[in-house]
This record gives sequence, C-alpha cells and structure tokens, in this order.
Amino acid sequence: MQTHEIHSRFLEHFRSTGHTVVPSASLILDDPTLLFVNAGMVQFKPYFLGDAPAPYPRATSIQKCVRTGDIDEVGKTTRHNTFFQMAGNFSFGDYFKEGAMEHAWKLLTSSVAEGGYGIDPERLWVTVYEHDTESAALWRNTTGIDPARIQVRGAEDNYWDMGVPGPGGPCSEIYYDRGPAYGVEGGPNVDEDRYIEIWNLVFMQDIRGEESPKKGAPLLGELPTKNIDTGMGVERVACLLQGVENVYETDLVRPVIAKAEELSGRRYGANHEDDVRFRVIADHARSGVMLVGDGVTPGNEARGYVLRRLLRRIVRSTRLLGVQEPVLGEFTQVVRDAMAPAYPELRTDFERIDSVIRNEEEAFLTTLTAGSKIFDVAVADTKKSGASQLPGAKAFQLHDTYGFPIDLTLEMASEQGLSVDEHGFRELMGEQRRRAKEDAKARKTGHGDLSTYRTLLDQHGTTEFIGYTDLESQSRVL
Ligand code: ATP
Ligand code: MG
Ligand code: MG
Ligand code: MG
Repeated sequence: MQTHEIHSRFLEHFRSTGHTVVPSASLILDDPTLLFVNAGMVQFKPYFLGDAPAPYPRATSIQKCVRTGDIDEVGKTTRHNTFFQMAGNFSFGDYFKEGAMEHAWKLLTSSVAEGGYGIDPERLWVTVYEHDTESAALWRNTTGIDPARIQVRGAEDNYWDMGVPGPGGPCSEIYYDRGPAYGVEGGPNVDEDRYIEIWNLVFMQDIRGEESPKKGAPLLGELPTKNIDTGMGVERVACLLQGVENVYETDLVRPVIAKAEELSGRRYGANHEDDVRFRVIADHARSGVMLVGDGVTPGNEARGYVLRRLLRRIVRSTRLLGVQEPVLGEFTQVVRDAMAPAYPELRTDFERIDSVIRNEEEAFLTTLTAGSKIFDVAVADTKKSGASQLPGAKAFQLHDTYGFPIDLTLEMASEQGLSVDEHGFRELMGEQRRRAKEDAKARKTGHGDLSTYRTLLDQHGTTEFIGYTDLESQSRVL
C-alpha cells in the first residue's frame, strides 16, 4: 500500500467518524518550547491547555514532523527519520480511552477491502502505563487482544506531560511483531527492533504540578474534561505494509537512494557502511527540502543550524560514496517528485527551495576539501602525539574558517577513533560571539542590524568562513 493510500485511508476513517480534517501545520510554529513541530498535537495545544475552546470536538490530521533528537539514529535503526509524518486523531473532551482504542484497532486491522490497513491482529502488541488501572481491561474488552500481548511500562515510556504544570496522562502504545527474523521473542519490553512501535495513544486525564509524575511527584487531580491525542507513524506503517526492511526504503524515501546509487555507481545493499550513507542521504534530503519549504534557511543558529547540518551531512555522505560533484540539486528534484502529490507547494515553490539548497552546497564544497586536509593533518598529529582528543582550537578553526558544523567534526573524529575537546571549542565560540557583539555595537553606523545581513548572506550562499571583516564590507555593498 502506497503512502498516499495510507494517508487517505487514515483521514477517511476519521472523517467518516465525525472528525474534522485539519491540514498539517507548518514545521515552524511560534512556540518558544519547540525548534520544530515534532508531533501532531502541537497545533492543538491551546485546546488541550484550555487557552482556547476547541472549535470541534474531534479532529484528525497528518502532521509534518521533525525530530532532530533522532538524527543519530538515522540510517542505523530501521525506524527513525528526522522528517516524518504523524497521523493523528484528537478528542477534546469527547470520546476517551475506549474510543481511541477502538478507532486505532479498527483502522489497523480492518481488511483492505473495508478501507483498513489489513494488519493481522495477532501481530499486534500493546503497552499500558503501570499505574493506569483500567487500560489493560479496556484493551481486552474493546479489541479481544490476548492478555499475553499486553505489557506494562513505567512512567519513562508511558506517561506523557508537557514538562510544565498542566495536562498529563498515561499512554498506550501499539507495536507490530515483525517476526523471529527481526529479533527475540518477548514483546516490545524485550526488543523494539522486532516489535516496532507504530501508534501512541495518549489519555489526557491528569493535572500535574511543578514536578512531573515521571519523577514520582503526586498528581494535583483530574482534568475536568478528558482528551485524546494519538500519533501513528506513517513511514513505519508504510514500511510494514510495503514489506520493506526499514522506513528509508518506503515509497517516498527510496527514490533518493536510487538517485544516489545512480550518481555513485554503487549499489544499495552491497555493504553496510555504504547502506547507512545511502539512508542518511535519503532521510536528510527529504528533511532538508521540507524544512526549506517551510521557510528555514541555513545558518549558524537554532533552526538554520539544524538545516545546515542536515544538508552538509548529505554532501559528506555522498562524497564518502565517491561522488565529487554537487549533488543536492539532483536529490531535491527527486524529493519534490515524491512528496509533491501530498505537498503541492513543493512544486510551486521549487525554484526558491532548490536555490537555497544549492547555494548551501556550493558554499560548503568550496571549503570542504580544504577543511578535510586540515582535519587529516590534525588527526595525524593527534595520533602521533599519542593523544586521543582533537584540540578544541582545531574544531574551532574548522568551524570558523571552513564552515564545519561541530557535529561534522565530532562525527569525522569518531570515525578516526578520536574524541574532540568540546569544552575548549565552546569556550572559543563563546569568545567569538562576545567579540562579534561588541563589534556590532561599536559599528552600528546606520547600516542596520548585522543579523539581517547574515540572513541575506546565508540565503545567498556565503557562510561563516568569510569572517566578520568580509561580512562587514559586504554589508556595505548590500
Ligand atoms: P520511538 O520509541 O520509536 O523513538 P517514540 O515513542 O519517540 O518512538 P512517539 O513520540 O510516541 O514516538 O510518536 C508517535 C509515533 O510517531 C510513534 O509511535 C512512531 O510511529 C512515530 N515516530 C516517532 N518518532 C519517529 C521518527 N523519528 N521517525 C518516524 N516515525 C516516528
Ligand atoms: Mg523517540
Ligand atoms: Mg517509544
Ligand atoms: Mg511512543
């Protein structure tokens, strides 16, 4: 079953049961607690928090999500993307636990002819929160699941809150057993590779205080109205329904791997190290396009830095596959073709997206070769001296002069069996920031705020390595 079908069946199931279909919010919302939208519930937060009345009792959406915390998992586990789509259904004081369980189970296990995903219910497992006294029985009653496939979990995994006083509640997760070829028997508590998490149901029923119940703090009471927030991983379901090995081989991601195979002349599936690179490229290319599509531009701070890191990791991974030429433009087109049916703005806005991404690559390529030479010498020196840590000053030089995000240096160093003096690096960064601030203050002579120019320069592909002097002279030209 193709992804567009997974989307449409999801929305149709919930539309036909009284849920208002709400479009995905942008990846960037004005929410100081989040760099990127990372779950379907984010755009509904005001309703859950009681800051605004919900305009509908039930809603459903397929939300674009980015989880940068999962970046190191990408390509190595079978199931973590940096960009993924979370399909969800939400109840604002309407149905509660049983309703959420019934809906999820019905969509997953109804036959394809009936509009479902046709998953064998015998393959599904669920987890319940250890202090949630009713959910195990509700699962049995609503779905008939064998109690042997219900597992109990602690707060770390199965209690949800927002990290601040407000709503909280137990979760129940649904897992799919991929079978003995994927790991050992015993349910998700034993093996999360064999038993893959596909859907999380959050039962918002509690009021938490300053401290989280995750840390043993008592609850302040029950919410006057109880809510449901669920999230199903579209890529994970696609992986299972398409019978492929991992989320990177699903229909909307795999075409980038094919393009990378074509460009490199290497074959996916031939060698483990290359395979991880192929998957990183495919995952990051998609995230990069989706982020630029939502208005992020590469930069040195916050969101821009995440984007820069993703794009530079693609370039480097492609180089490690033996490709020297610029590649991002090629990948961008493939991502557009795969994703535009669901996100048509990628087509209409393509020229802009493409140029932001190509410019970043151009800027990086100019310095990558030179930076890699400096890096190699530093590694050789470090090893010769018998040390196991690259000096912070080297990492700073690579960052400042060659535009190497620190994570790139960390990654490259770790491939060489070395660590990096991150503390020293951060001190130098801090010093530089202080100097730059003082500089900017001293030179505010009607040219406006430096950061504006920085954004402009970033958009036009000139990156940090030119240093502040050049930036200043260019800002005069601008
Ligand atoms: P995991 O334990 O596998 O990291 P999670 O518990 O962090 O997942 P939730 O926060 O419960 O995930 O998100 C709801 C659903 O979104 C998950 O059940 C999963 O199907 C999907 N999902 C979460 N993170 C990712 C990701 N990085 N890539 C693809 N799908 C994801
Ligand atoms: Mg996770
Ligand atoms: Mg989990
Ligand atoms: Mg979860």
